[in-house]
Amino acid sequence: MEKQLLQQAVLDETRLKSLQEELRTKHPEEIIRFGVEEIGVKAITLACSFGYEDVALVDMALKVNPELDIFYLDTDLHFAETYQVRDRLSERYRKEFIRVAPALTLEEQQEHYGAELWKRDPDLCCKLRKVEPLRKFLTGYQGWITGIRREQSPTRAHAEVIEWDKAFGMVKLNPLAFWNEKQVWNYIFAHDIPYNPLHDQQYPSIGCQPCTRQVKPGEDPRAGRWAGSAKTECGLHVSQSE
Ligand code: SF4
Repeated sequence: MEKQLLQQAVLDETRLKSLQEELRTKHPEEIIRFGVEEIGVKAITLACSFGYEDVALVDMALKVNPELDIFYLDTDLHFAETYQVRDRLSERYRKEFIRVAPALTLEEQQEHYGAELWKRDPDLCCKLRKVEPLRKFLTGYQGWITGIRREQSPTRAHAEVIEWDKAFGMVKLNPLAFWNEKQVWNYIFAHDIPYNPLHDQQYPSIGCQPCTRQVKPGEDPRAGRWAGSAKTECGLHVSQSE
């Protein structure tokens, strides 16, 4: 199936459903292989935020094809531990991760929008530091791969392993959509993959430092993201049902 044929298939409701059924029982590595082979290794890219799902995907993706482009959105506001795990992965796999940066430095953002925009308008801050840089970067690709899992949050409960991403106009693969947390960690330990040590300190979901806090026992795993505000997503992932 050529790239355009896959895109047509994903845009066709009936054929998309049959592809979803066919792929959802496959191992995530096989789903990545499918995307890389059908779309082309230089036409699809893996998004990595260095959380535990993403480090597992990095391992699988580089087994499929070491040439695959892997990028991260550098908001300049990540925890030091996040940059350290990037460096450990880079060394382990001899792989350079593509740094996607916002148009404005933090200083320029402060000049234009005032200090600590994330406290006053996190949606605008995420738009400037994540969504717009991602939109610009993805124009060079026909598909992207993410670490979304159904059980991460109610907004992700209907994620499929293959979707048409309406926001970015391309194929989106979520190879871990049906995996649970334990399966991901088992994979990480079985393959001795470096991971962010903050996960061992009650940070199940790690984003920018100012917008991430530890969660208490029994709290939702994403309760530490934008705590105290109604915001639950950066705006990178638009639900299929929206
Ligand atoms: Fe800004 Fe917070 Fe969004 Fe990071 S997560 S881009 S600091 S609002």
